[in-house]
Amino acid sequence: MVSPLKSERLLSILRCPACGGSVRLNGQDHLACGNCKKHYKLEDRTPIMLSEDPPSLRFACDPATEGPAGGIRDPRPTKSPSFLTRPTPRSERFYAWWWWRSFNRPLITDRTYLELLDRVPRGSIGLDLGSRQRVRDDAITLDITPGANVDLVADGHELPFAGNTFDYIWCNAVLEHVPYPYRVASEIARTLKCQGMAFIQVPFLEFVHGYPQDYFRFTVQGLRVLFDGMEEIAGGVSAGPGQVLADLLQYYLTLFGDIQRRALLPNVWCVVPGALLFPVRLLDYLLRGRSSYWQWARGYYFVARKPDADFQIGTRFSPRGNT
Ligand SMILES: [Zn+2]
Repeated sequence: MVSPLKSERLLSILRCPACGGSVRLNGQDHLACGNCKKHYKLEDRTPIMLSEDPPSLRFACDPATEGPAGGIRDPRPTKSPSFLTRPTPRSERFYAWWWWRSFNRPLITDRTYLELLDRVPRGSIGLDLGSRQRVRDDAITLDITPGANVDLVADGHELPFAGNTFDYIWCNAVLEHVPYPYRVASEIARTLKCQGMAFIQVPFLEFVHGYPQDYFRFTVQGLRVLFDGMEEIAGGVSAGPGQVLADLLQYYLTLFGDIQRRALLPNVWCVVPGALLFPVRLLDYLLRGRSSYWQWARGYYFVARKPDADFQIGTRFSPRGNT
C-alpha cells in the first residue's frame, strides 16, 4: 500500500503549528493534533501544516496584480504582447535554463559551505528549508507552497517540529523572501539539535526576484546578528562581483523589466551579451583573494553550530538581553 506521506520520517517529528502538540494520521487524507484536535489536510501526500494566519502569508500580495505595492502602476504596456514578449511555459523553461543552469548561471567561487555540508554524516536528519530541491537524500523538504520535491507545506516562521529535531538545516536563498527573518532564524536555531549545523546562503547584490515577496538583503555581519548566540563556523562570499557585473550588464542591455517578465525575446537577447561577458565571471577566481572582494558580492554564505547548553538565540535583542 502507498504510504499516505511522501516521507515516512515526517510523522514522528511533526508538531502542530498552532499548539505544539503531536500529530497523528487520521485516515488517509488528514493529520490531527492530539492536543488541540486541529486537522491538517494532506494534498498529494503532502501535509499542509499552516496555522490559520501564518505570518508570511499576512504579507502576501496577489501575484496576479504584479506591480509594486503602494499604488505604483505596472509600467508594462497594456496591449497584448506577442508570443516573443509574453511569458509562456517555453519561455519560462528558457529563462530557468539560461539564468540558473547554462554557463551563464552564478558560479560558486567558494565551496566551503558545501564541503562542510558534505561532512555531516549520511543518514542524519536534515531540513531543506524553502529551496524546493532536496539538497541531500536525508533532508526533509519544506516550502510555503506544494511542489513535486516538497514533503511538507509549512511556514518558516513557525516550523511544525519540536525543538532539537535536526542535525542540519539548509536554507539557501530563502531568508530574503521572508518578512520576519529574525523569527525564521530563531526557528532554525530552536529546531536544530545541540551541535546541529545551520547552512545559510543569501544574495547580496542581486535583482529583486520572487516578487512581491523579496524583502531583504544581508551581509555576513547581518547574518551574525540574525544567528546571534550560534557558534560561527564559516562565513564568506559564495559568488563574487564578476557575477554581479555580468548579470547587471545583461539586465541593463536587454531592459531589466522585460527579463523579469520571463518572456522569450529579452532572454534570447541576453545570450549575446551573456556569452561575451562570460570571461568576466571567471575573473572572480583570480580576484577572490583581494581584500575588497567581499564588498561587492553577489551572495554570502554562513555556517553556524548550535551550542550545547543554556542556548538562547538573539538574547541581545530580547527585552531582558544584556542583563
Ligand atoms: Zn494543536
